[in-house]
Formats: sequence, structure tokens, C-alpha cells
Amino acid sequence: MKKELLVAAMGMASLTPGCVKTGGESTPSSDPQGTGLTASSKVDIDKLLKRLADKPVPTKLEMGAMCYDMAMPPERAEYVCPACGGKTIHVMKMPSFDWNAPAVAITDYRGLVSQLRKLGLDAQLDETGLCSACRKENQTGLFFCVTIKGKTVRNELRNLNDLRKLIAFVQGDLVWKGEQDMEHPLKPELPSIRQLLGVKE
Ligand SMILES: [Zn+2]
Repeated sequence: MKKELLVAAMGMASLTPGCVKTGGESTPSSDPQGTGLTASSKVDIDKLLKRLADKPVPTKLEMGAMCYDMAMPPERAEYVCPACGGKTIHVMKMPSFDWNAPAVAITDYRGLVSQLRKLGLDAQLDETGLCSACRKENQTGLFFCVTIKGKTVRNELRNLNDLRKLIAFVQGDLVWKGEQDMEHPLKPELPSIRQLLGVKE
């Protein structure tokens, strides 16, 4: 079992042309969990974008439960790679020292992406950056891949809220629920939703 200290460095979300592996491989997408690629998303993204852009921003929002967990996030997390079974110890440094750090909250990230798949979005997580054995070069971090109309985009995930916003969007909601179920208007998130889905204005 290979163990290696890895500083989880979270960069800005980056947009790369497709989830295609470089280096001569012609695999359509990285698929660490062996989920297999489906043809494309069954969601009418254009219709949802138009609907959200046309609707007024809701003014009545639920405040959510005001019970904040004051516990500090863990300083290190052991990530077990589903592809190779290897373990990687992630040591948290600012700014990834939080409950949203991919290695800390990987189960939640997987659960939210699974929800998106159930909603008809051809989405998957690229976890290879979290595994010291599987990651390529210095590419650390957790990436979100989605295929819409045959086009695959890949973005780094910064927090769980990115996925929560997408779920609300695909469900046709006008608000998204963050931590403690607190509601936020979804309309101001349109640019980041477009970016995550790779859909231009
Ligand atoms: Zn691995």
C-alpha cells in the first residue's frame, strides 16, 4: 500500500476542452469508478437556462437551521482510491482547510454527482487527482466532468455548493440550498452554472 504525503492544493476552477486524457490515449473520458460513459445528458439545458433567466429572483428564502457545527475540519484525511485501492494522506493547508476539501468530503461529492446522474445529467467525478498513484503530473484536485450534446467539459470543484447549485438548476428550482438547508437565489449563479456545464451565453 503506497502512502504519500500530499498537500491538497485547490486552484481556481479551470475549463479544459473535454475530459480527454492526454498522452496518446483515445479514451473518451477519465472514468475512475468504471461507471461508463452514457451518450449524453438527457436534460434540456437550454430550456432550463432560459427558464431561470426569465423568472424573477425569489424574495422569500428559508433561513435554514441555525445550528452551526463549530468543530474544526480535520487537518489530514486518508483518501482511498476506488480505481487502484491505494491510500493517499491529504494534509490540509489553507485555503483548502475546510469541510469541503475533496479528500475530506469525497463521499458527499460522490453522492451529489450520483444525484445529478439520476436527474439525467451525464456527469461524473474525476478523482484521479486525489490519488498519489493515479494522478498525472502535478494535477491534484477534484474534477467534475459533464457531457452535454456530445461535448464534455471538465472543471475543478471548489466546494460542495457548486454541485448543490447544479442539482437545484437541473430540478428547475429557483433557489438552491446550502449548508444547514439555507436557501439562496439561484439566478445570480447562472454564470457559474454555465461555466460548470460548458454552456456559453
Ligand atoms: Zn488510484
